[in-house]
Amino acid sequence: MQMLASKFEELFGSAPEVIASAPGRVNLIGEHVDFLDGFVLPFAISDVTTVAIARNQSNQIRTASMQKSGAIFQTEVAKLTPKTGEAWSRYPIGVIWALEISTGLDILIDGEVPLGAGLSSSAALECAVATALNSLFELGFSLPELARIAQRAENIYVGMPCGIMDQSVSLMATAGNALLLDTRDLSTEQIPFDIAPLGLELLVIDTQVHHKLVDGGYAERRASCEKAVSDLGITSLRDISVADFIARKSELDAKTFSRAFHGVTEMQRVLDAVQLLKSGDFVGFGEVVSAAHISLRDNYTVSCPELDLAVETAQKFGALGARMIGGGFGGSAIALIKARDLELIKSEIISAFMAAKFKAPRFFSALPSAGAAVIN
Ligand code: ADP
Ligand code: MG
Repeated sequence: MQMLASKFEELFGSAPEVIASAPGRVNLIGEHVDFLDGFVLPFAISDVTTVAIARNQSNQIRTASMQKSGAIFQTEVAKLTPKTGEAWSRYPIGVIWALEISTGLDILIDGEVPLGAGLSSSAALECAVATALNSLFELGFSLPELARIAQRAENIYVGMPCGIMDQSVSLMATAGNALLLDTRDLSTEQIPFDIAPLGLELLVIDTQVHHKLVDGGYAERRASCEKAVSDLGITSLRDISVADFIARKSELDAKTFSRAFHGVTEMQRVLDAVQLLKSGDFVGFGEVVSAAHISLRDNYTVSCPELDLAVETAQKFGALGARMIGGGFGGSAIALIKARDLELIKSEIISAFMAAKFKAPRFFSALPSAGAAVIN
């Protein structure tokens, strides 16, 4: 933090007025159900993005990031236009735009959340800026309101149609818990996930591959879920039980059934996972996480050989549960592991990837940590 403050002074010639940070996140379970009114269960990781901000008595926003060579991007605060300006600068400036702030500002960003690894460095950045500005201008927004504002910045100013999960957990997480978020009404509940004292941790395996989608990908899968809803004459896949859905299988074509089956069962898996965590059953919880991978692979068909190999290798060498995370066709997988198995599992995954001639993966360890905070 001292480093950030002195770098800020060096760049902008004044001291920061506020410093705030916000974490990245991992979603334990609840994949591809945020657009189905489903439940998700993310937790905040300990890696944060920190921002230092001061008013600059001009009509300009000047912003720089240590992860983008520290060069200043400058733009007039009265002329903010969505989807313009340097790509990375749209995240912090989008938040200023969404908050309708009309004062000139200097902003310096320093993030430790790896960019583009599926850990949501984008929400960490937005939420750090939103938290800092909420404090600096005494705006009084609640955490759910700030989550909406940060999402609006990303949806409209950046142009990325993300859901509300990443911003919600980055702002509302508490240490040692995961956050159950109901995407239907945005209600939340803290769910105990204090794994460190149990000798457990979450390993993130970034395959570093992003396969091109061969068949229209996500939009097509989403359309299948919508088709299931209309063919069955229901309002949402949220409103049908797994048993009722199976009983009505003959009313759907095979592809529609299998993709919507992922949605229906995934929502149930999140609820099952929550019950298992509440009763401290981490073995049962791990099994539910692994079942989610099978469904993403076989029903929703968004996995790829690299993700499958990462998951299978982690399971073979002691993981309690493992699955691919995020959109799919590449990106990252997670594995709930015993901390003492960390080096073994990493080296076995590296060997398996080498043998399969896959690109070398990156690894991150994650423990459930606190959400955004003003730190100065
Ligand atoms: P993810 O959120 O999974 O990390 P995204 O593509 O959604 O991946 O967001 C990554 C983008 O967010 C980066 O390409 C960059 O534009 C922006 N970003 C995130 N963190 C920083 C940072 N510390 N400095 C500058 N830009 C950042
Ligand atoms: Mg993102």
